[in-house]
Amino acid sequence: MDDNNILEVRNLKMYFPIYRGLLQRVAGHVKAVDGVSFSLREQEVLGLVGESGCGKTTVGRTILRLYDPTSGEVRFRKQTGEWVDVAKISLREMKPLRREMRMVFQDPFSSLNPRLTVKDIISEPLEIHGVAHGKEAEERVAQLMREVGLNPAYMRRYPHEFSGGQRQRIGLARALSLNPRLIIADEPVSALDVSVQAQVLNLMKGLQTDLGLTMIFVAHDLSVVEHISDRIAVMYVGKIVELADTDELMRNPLHPYTEALLSAVPPADPDIRPNRIRLQGEVPSPANPPSGCIFHPRCNYAKPVCSQQEPLLEENKPGHFVACHFASELKLRGIGE
Ligand code: SF4
Repeated sequence: MDDNNILEVRNLKMYFPIYRGLLQRVAGHVKAVDGVSFSLREQEVLGLVGESGCGKTTVGRTILRLYDPTSGEVRFRKQTGEWVDVAKISLREMKPLRREMRMVFQDPFSSLNPRLTVKDIISEPLEIHGVAHGKEAEERVAQLMREVGLNPAYMRRYPHEFSGGQRQRIGLARALSLNPRLIIADEPVSALDVSVQAQVLNLMKGLQTDLGLTMIFVAHDLSVVEHISDRIAVMYVGKIVELADTDELMRNPLHPYTEALLSAVPPADPDIRPNRIRLQGEVPSPANPPSGCIFHPRCNYAKPVCSQQEPLLEENKPGHFVACHFASELKLRGIGE
């Protein structure tokens, strides 16, 4: 384990059983996460990108032990410097770690309890973990509201009295209330209007820098993670197919799936027409993934070996990992090409 890292995920698998028949026998598994490995440096932002159903949200939830992983390791370096495998510890041992690892949820409309005031929502983690009560908790709520750009005078209002962007700010304040070291943000701007997305993204980037947070930022849109992430991991049907520094991945993609995702990013210049790559077919089911390379039924560059042999995620250039048999031969288009 490297002490520059805060998190090391090794061969993480999260399979959900499929039950069939009157006896509800296990008839198969949905392989939502299938052998995911990556590390996260202290104060780094990793973007986790892919189409819906690719397993990116499940990775985040499994790291936080909202699901019990099927197998693999989730090594987290605690504030004390001690490493702990989150995948193996008991839920009782997990409780104090929840102060250091927090989640920001996708939907600011359903993730906030409509019966609680903003003050109660933000102060709840403080009360549960015995960090602050009463007046002290209220002062902390006011400070957090100011940090996320909300007026503390509104702390006795209810979530429905706020806009979508403001509700996501409340969710952020709640996540930050315990001074976490790792934030997993699960599509935090997907449910927001485009005009509000940039404001919330800028706020998150500012908070990440000011508070020295480490973050996993889950999104389905490369253009969203591009501005906030130091590195990006691209997921497809439960696996990471490419991982590199943001600039490197955007300009020099090595995986055909990344190339297709990049072609869908709107060009900065409105006069340039996007040259979008249309993928054949549908995303395969994680209950029945294709043989060999999981991307081969849709890949424009597939050769016979692709359906027979699975490519492993390997370092092709320093810091640039890809799972494709032909990564060194293909000449793929980067952003805006
Ligand atoms: Fe395409 Fe083959 Fe590379 Fe898979 S291994 S991405 S099918 S070229």
